[in-house]
Amino acid sequence: MRASEFFIGTTKEMPNDAEIISHQLMMRAGFIRRLGSGLYTWMPVGLRVVRKIEAIVREEMAAAGALELLMPAVQPAELWQESGRWDKYGPELLRISDRHDRDFCVGPTHEEVITDIVRREIRSYKQLPVNFYQIQTKFRDEIRPRFGAMRAREFIMKDAYSFDIDEAGLQKSFDRMHAAYVRIFDRIGLDYRAVDADSGSIGGATSTEFHVLADSGEDAVVYSTGSDYAANMEKAAAIPTGERAAATRSMTRVETPGVHTIDDLTNAVGQAATQCLKTLLVKGASEQAPVIALCVRGDHELNDIKAENLPEVAEPLSFADATAIRSVAACDAGSIGPVGLSIPLFVDASAALMADFVCGANENNVHLGGVNWGRDLPEPEVRDLRNVVEGDPDPTGSGTLKIVRGIEVGHIFQLGTTYSEALNANVTDEGGRPQTLLMGCYGIGVTRVAAAAIEQNHDDKGIIWPEAIAPFEVVISPIHAAKSDLVREAAENLYLEMKHAGIDVLLDDRPLRPGQMFADMELIGIPHRFVVSDKLLAADQFEYKGRRDADATLIPRGDALEQLLKLRAS
Ligand code: ATP
Ligand code: MG
Repeated sequence: MRASEFFIGTTKEMPNDAEIISHQLMMRAGFIRRLGSGLYTWMPVGLRVVRKIEAIVREEMAAAGALELLMPAVQPAELWQESGRWDKYGPELLRISDRHDRDFCVGPTHEEVITDIVRREIRSYKQLPVNFYQIQTKFRDEIRPRFGAMRAREFIMKDAYSFDIDEAGLQKSFDRMHAAYVRIFDRIGLDYRAVDADSGSIGGATSTEFHVLADSGEDAVVYSTGSDYAANMEKAAAIPTGERAAATRSMTRVETPGVHTIDDLTNAVGQAATQCLKTLLVKGASEQAPVIALCVRGDHELNDIKAENLPEVAEPLSFADATAIRSVAACDAGSIGPVGLSIPLFVDASAALMADFVCGANENNVHLGGVNWGRDLPEPEVRDLRNVVEGDPDPTGSGTLKIVRGIEVGHIFQLGTTYSEALNANVTDEGGRPQTLLMGCYGIGVTRVAAAAIEQNHDDKGIIWPEAIAPFEVVISPIHAAKSDLVREAAENLYLEMKHAGIDVLLDDRPLRPGQMFADMELIGIPHRFVVSDKLLAADQFEYKGRRDADATLIPRGDALEQLLKLRAS
């Protein structure tokens, strides 16, 4: 490609909503342009990156036996009503109606549509297994679209769906996709981890997330220093340490005027947060128990997903409002405690080990000190309710847990029969009996991968693309070409030589000062650069610089292509 025939939209302007580096650099390098909240145009240079990611995804999907199709983005409400998600999905689902007042949604995901295809097309176990995928624009009306392509409302996803006759088949399909994901993220050249995840509201049992490690990541990734254990924060199991000490104090009332938070409380009673018990009231799942109490240690955080996964707790997790609180205790939220509370009470395993602790007295401005389980209140119903913290033991028994930030770029689930049951997707088995299909689904955020790659690969000059997804692999920068036929000719010849060798090369033939040319290409993040100038040609040389190199090197003119091929292979 010749830069004079391309569009390079680098700019110094920076939108003030660009909080993270990938968003800033994508805007400055001219990869994306904002149309509205969470809506971006992929400009030609940016689209080249997206297409390269897609090409790798397509190759690996094909190698793993998945077949590409393309489903409509707009989906009839009836299908979502059949699966039960029309009511469940909430405001992230963009609902629209047509001229006949029929309801539709703009697909945030395609389980319903693919299950409908499969229930119509696949009749017999002989046609299984199948795995269909597409690369398509999704719409999710995110509550907080931000970070540009990282959390957009409209974005490109690769979504694959497998169907099998039994659990063993599903496991095989899942493992194949897992291996394909490993190859995809390896080939793209990202530092990532596969982690155990909670399957969330999409249903099903087993799920694995792929996270690109980056400080700006919205998710916490937990891993062990002593084993392969890795999980996301929602899923990571919190193992309590130590034993409960014997009671040494008797229970006493403590006046705590103006105390509402754990911080207030530790100051007021002069005890560490580890000695204070937090009691949270949440909505219950049944009418018989509309309010549920959950206790965690003062220095720990409630894990919303673990709480929501308790059958007694309503989904999605919501805290009891003032009226609900008053229905169980004559006080405000900050003074709730477990002593004498006559509602179901679940206690985190670490909180269950506390002795002589401080907690709310269910009376405003009063707390209780010296409280002990089994003496002042019944032995607790123990659950895992908290987020793990650094230094917690590895649940598999070797090492301790560390926490890093991650960007979720892929997610694979074993859905089981959730959708095939609701939509009645059966096939006949060997004995001619109907069997409900077992389903898996597998997503990759194609456009998010581009953003994540930048988060991991940039410097003060701009983006440093991993070679496999760079918009161009190499740029040729002729210096003062307008004034020199020799420079123009040599650059042109090098350009054609590389092009014929199948290299994705950009010839920067714009009439610009060298400094500006270099700055643009460094901002855009092209991995390799060859400079052509009269001075270099006089010595029969070109100058080469890798995007990460501190200094340029001189190479014999005839070695340029060979040098590049060698660098590319390494
Ligand atoms: P998140 O927790 O980040 O919202 P999710 O769990 O909703 O992600 P999935 O439903 O598993 O995501 O979608 C598959 C993939 O699509 C994700 O792994 C992610 O890479 C990508 N993705 C999801 N939401 C967005 C978004 N708003 N913008 C860009 N990519 C997204
Ligand atoms: Mg989401």
